[in-house]
Amino acid sequence: MNRKEFLLSLATSTIWGMNMKTKSLNQLTASLDSTDTMPVLFLGHGSPMNAIEENEFVAGFRRTADGIPKPQAILCVSAHWETRGTYVTAMEHPQTIHDFGGFPRELYQVQYPAPGSQELATTTKELIKRTEVGLDHQWGLDHGAWSVIKHLYPKADVPVIQMSLDRGRDARYHYEMASELSSLRNKGVLIIGSGNMVHNLRLLAWDKLNTDGFAYDWALEAGSKMKQFIINGDHDALIRYDQQGTAFRQAVPTPEHYLPLLYVLALKGKNDMLSLFNDKAVAGSLTMTSVKVG
Ligand code: ZN
Repeated sequence: MNRKEFLLSLATSTIWGMNMKTKSLNQLTASLDSTDTMPVLFLGHGSPMNAIEENEFVAGFRRTADGIPKPQAILCVSAHWETRGTYVTAMEHPQTIHDFGGFPRELYQVQYPAPGSQELATTTKELIKRTEVGLDHQWGLDHGAWSVIKHLYPKADVPVIQMSLDRGRDARYHYEMASELSSLRNKGVLIIGSGNMVHNLRLLAWDKLNTDGFAYDWALEAGSKMKQFIINGDHDALIRYDQQGTAFRQAVPTPEHYLPLLYVLALKGKNDMLSLFNDKAVAGSLTMTSVKVG
């Protein structure tokens, strides 16, 4: 496929890489058997209200889940779990964490009772060589995970673990560590990075919340440069996000919502297809742009 076709495909939100056979996944807690290579997703999660609203973004999440094999388990790297060191959740029943303030009561009542997977937690710990991964029994599922996974698998019938972001590490470290997770893709594990590429809540245009697709110039500039780097496979430029000028600095004032993107890109194999979806800005300073690899 040439570049023009690629861009056209992006424009029409065509999802690629649909050639994987759907596996029969009869046992939720089955051991991590070998499977066809699972895709990897970066999901722009945006407002926690997306958990309970019906809109084009959650429709995009649903469509994406419908187009891929149902995973045996999910490993989610969420912007909302930062730690010193790296941890994976290892409890059997992760709690639904309502880690936000000032939202309607209805949102606090949402429960997402997906089971955990001690097996996936242990396997992940063994896979990562760069650091000692800790098994966590305190966290659970924060809204970076459940507010999007809920739309992918509303029955909460796929086990989910989270992996934390080590706030003491730089972008390159995160990218390189993420690549150590690649064999999970052949074990029926759907790896999800949940954040937002452009995410500056301090500059949010509250008066434009309902203005469809409104983006500040710097958000547009940073967002389109990021997409070009993604399309061109220029991961090095994305790792060096803090050297990409003013627009990037405004788009990524703190790294936690951006880093999950690097986890997803680090897992892109040479033959993997790539597509963007939910490629839209909200309230000036946030983009929902999501990426499917594979
Ligand atoms: Zn967030």
